[in-house]
Amino acid sequence: MKKCPNCLREIQNDAVFCQYCGLEIQIDDFASEKTNQVKKYKRTPMQIGLLLSAIMGACNIISIFINYSSGPEIIGHLLFSVPAIFGIFAVIFAFIVWAWRKLFDK
Ligand SMILES: [Zn+2]
Repeated sequence: MKKCPNCLREIQNDAVFCQYCGLEIQIDDFASEKTNQVKKYKRTPMQIGLLLSAIMGACNIISIFINYSSGPEIIGHLLFSVPAIFGIFAVIFAFIVWAWRKLFDK
């Protein structure tokens, strides 16, 4: 039960009009809840950066296996150059997405 703001008598929670004085009851709570739900979920720039960088890293690993035939060379590249490239590009892609949103997505 809730109280009518006009006559202060108890009325039904889902009442649109007060049954005693006829006052129209505002239902602002419902409207604000709906607008909150409509808000779109967006991925953060860092998430997109990591995703694009993962694709880059996969291509990088494939190219290493194509270009290098000896075992130690492949292991060396997989241990050092792949993580380095992955980290650098993750930051670069994240920055591009962040800058893009700052400029165009208002
Ligand atoms: Zn009333």
